[in-house]
Amino acid sequence: MFYYLIDFKRFSYLYAFFVWGQADKVLDAKTAQVFNKNHIKTHKFKGFSEMVTIDRVETLVLDLPTIRPHQLAMATMHGQTLMLVRIYCSDGSVGVGEGTTIGGLAYGAESPEGMKLAIDTYFAPLLLGQNADDVSALMQRLHIAIRDNRFAKSAVETALYDALGKRRQLPISELLGGRLRDRLPVAWTLASGDTAKDIDEAEHMLSVRRHRIFKLKIGKRAVAQDVAHVAAIKKAVGDRATVRVDVNMAWTELEARYGIPALADVGCELVEQPVANAAALARLAGKYPIAIMADELLTGPESAFALAKAQAADVFAIKIEQSGGMRAAQKVAAIAEAAHIELYGGTMLEGSIGTIASAHAFSTFHALEWGTELFGPLLITEEILETPLVYQDFELHIPSGPGLGITLDEERVQFFSREQRKKTVSLAASR
Ligand SMILES: [Mg+2]
Repeated sequence: MFYYLIDFKRFSYLYAFFVWGQADKVLDAKTAQVFNKNHIKTHKFKGFSEMVTIDRVETLVLDLPTIRPHQLAMATMHGQTLMLVRIYCSDGSVGVGEGTTIGGLAYGAESPEGMKLAIDTYFAPLLLGQNADDVSALMQRLHIAIRDNRFAKSAVETALYDALGKRRQLPISELLGGRLRDRLPVAWTLASGDTAKDIDEAEHMLSVRRHRIFKLKIGKRAVAQDVAHVAAIKKAVGDRATVRVDVNMAWTELEARYGIPALADVGCELVEQPVANAAALARLAGKYPIAIMADELLTGPESAFALAKAQAADVFAIKIEQSGGMRAAQKVAAIAEAAHIELYGGTMLEGSIGTIASAHAFSTFHALEWGTELFGPLLITEEILETPLVYQDFELHIPSGPGLGITLDEERVQFFSREQRKKTVSLAASR
């Protein structure tokens, strides 16, 4: 059995003959079978100077402090943990990607620590020695061997594209088909849990011209209390800002039937994921003069298709990690376009790397009617980039340099890495 389709443009027959005998080692049988059936090119020409291979995959977990506790219906976050993956290529190029969750395991099946373990144990062996330029084929290889792990796949895909962009001297947005916008409107989440504090925070954001879209996290208290909280904030900001809520699935369908029209009455313009169930969401959508947005239920193209078919939402909150990567997020956007569903760029409260990867993907969407919530780095008090991201006049600027277009501050990355901190603690304890 030979599992090759030779790229005749780049390689001579002579060289192809030389590697012929190694074909069986290239891919495991299952992957090879699927690749063959779908006519996907595969090559792993060890030692060929022109091909850039993946030499090393490194992961680390960073613990970063946040500006304040962030209260959601399912968890209160007191800090943020990022999983960073770095892919080192044979030409010296290095790509970086990020995997982050909301409240550890409170949001879904993947955690930063779990992603590190999955990448070290299962992803890395599938990537090492492979052609680093074949990002689509590499991701296909991962999809065949690894069933789920969408967040970890998103981080790895980001790192692969970052490295490819640096080699090609192109921003990731161009590798994804081309950007339609250079800046993205960014909403701010008011989630202190205290109405007066939230109003002060909103006033501050308006005065420094950073945010004029406010998303309120509700669902922990009684519906009437939450509606009063939203009403007070909307009254305070008036026409200077828009107010939306995220219930994070905390309501029953009956609570939603009471809460949604009440929110519409106090000037709230959108309700994000009021209930957990898709059928209940579909029964609520289109009933009230307020937009219904799907978030938690949106876990990639297949779920997007099902929600669109059920007419369960007016708006999709697309997140690259929830979708399974930037390319998968683009597929979700395409389904929304076909179904006339409006778009919003969501966040898993990623740090700078995941945020900018999201920004590159969102910049290519056909429309972005509801803007984005790419404020994750602003929630974190410590900068890990050499040059901080630009948030100005209510918008995030998308970098235009190669790859992600950002550079990590290595010293600070090492300082906040969990391994490094453990070492520091044990040294101090031994004295
Ligand atoms: Mg949400």
